[in-house]
Amino acid sequence: MRLSRYFLPVLKETPADAQIVSHRLMLRAGMIKQSSAGIYNWLPLGLKVLRKIEDIVHEEQAKAGHIPILMPTIQGADLWRESGRYDDYGDEMLRIKDRHDRDMLFGPTNEEAVTDIFRSYVNSYKALPLTLYQIQWKFRDERRPRFGVMRGREFLMKDGYNFDLTKEAALHAYNRHLVTYLRTYERMGLQAIPMQADGGPVGGDYTHEFLVLAETGESEVFYDSDVTDITLGDRDIDFDNVEQCEAVMNEFTTKYARTDETHDEAVFNEVPEERRRSARGIEVGQIFYFGTKYSDAMGAEVVNDEGQKVPVHMGSHGIGVSRLLGAIIEASHDDKGIIWPEGVTPFDCGIVNLKQGDEEADAACEGLYDALVAASLDPLYDDRKERAGGKFATMDLIGLPWRITVGPRGLKNGVVEVTSRKTGESIEMSPEDAIAKIIAIYKDV
Ligand code: ATP
Ligand code: MG
Repeated sequence: MRLSRYFLPVLKETPADAQIVSHRLMLRAGMIKQSSAGIYNWLPLGLKVLRKIEDIVHEEQAKAGHIPILMPTIQGADLWRESGRYDDYGDEMLRIKDRHDRDMLFGPTNEEAVTDIFRSYVNSYKALPLTLYQIQWKFRDERRPRFGVMRGREFLMKDGYNFDLTKEAALHAYNRHLVTYLRTYERMGLQAIPMQADGGPVGGDYTHEFLVLAETGESEVFYDSDVTDITLGDRDIDFDNVEQCEAVMNEFTTKYARTDETHDEAVFNEVPEERRRSARGIEVGQIFYFGTKYSDAMGAEVVNDEGQKVPVHMGSHGIGVSRLLGAIIEASHDDKGIIWPEGVTPFDCGIVNLKQGDEEADAACEGLYDALVAASLDPLYDDRKERAGGKFATMDLIGLPWRITVGPRGLKNGVVEVTSRKTGESIEMSPEDAIAKIIAIYKDV
């Protein structure tokens, strides 16, 4: 993309009403524009990152054999009356009437809708295990929408639902989800720690929240500092292997890590004092096993191998897709702007022309641009007739991990400059080497 033809409405001034850094930077970098309280327009740069996050979520779900569907945002009230949650859900549910005076609602979650799909088609254990998921907009009429996309009213969520014959099989699905989530967050450059949590309105005894540690997080958390040393890395996972998934689950969840809702001072005190930590965290996901709660209420049954009708065991699993943009920025920025991890960056690298209109500089930039595009990369070429300082400031603000700077002086010596946004380190090299370096960086991303 050439910046002169793009739509990147960056703001010079810091927006006064944005309280936390990720919200300020998303507004300043022209990623989002508020529409009304807790509801946002996604501008081109923000949408690009949102799509990248969605892609990673889809890829990791596919590896575990989970199947994407898409359910509507507007639901009828009847299914929610069947489960008993229409009255229970309270003011967070946005209730709507259609022209025939029928009760409708903007879905805050989809356990009822997906259970209805399941019971309409599945009646034998042979169709199990089954996990259906979607990435769809949710609406919750939050009392205090704030912090930009972190606590919106309309927000994008990945929500998945597993259907299994037995509790054991459903707990395998739980473990499988825990592993896919760990990999999903790691690919976004995030460490999200699974913590024992509270079931809330979804219900169920087994639940973990995934928390990214950050001072601006809304949750208070308590953990053994050893949990921050564990990563999944690139180890091979066989998602059908029950023991392997359980072993990973145990590795990540045995040490003390809890939200304030489940925190137990006595148990915490058994952790050696020097490893005891309390901090703040951003909840970027949650997994649940809730047994037959919805299948009992809604009659989602299958015939087992002995010919008996039994309710299916279920769980649900959510990732805060739009909240993740805020979480990633909270975890990765400096005073100049965002620092995107390569896995989610809106453009792979920036090209800054220090002297637009200079024949040689223009030609070198075009050459770099074409070569990167030919290698299936996505560069952003700042081809505006602007001062170098302004161009650097924009690149730093929008946070592309790599920048290639091209100017007449360097070109005289046959070099351009490659700069890491994260370290600030610049290296001079030939344009060919710069291209090879950027291609190599993105080879495994
Ligand atoms: P919270 O406690 O933050 O209100 P929740 O526990 O009610 O969230 P879940 O039902 O677990 O949310 O939803 C799954 C994920 O969706 C959460 O882990 C979070 O990342 C995201 N999410 C929930 N509410 C919002 C919101 N208002 N804005 C943005 N993301 C949200
Ligand atoms: Mg939650």
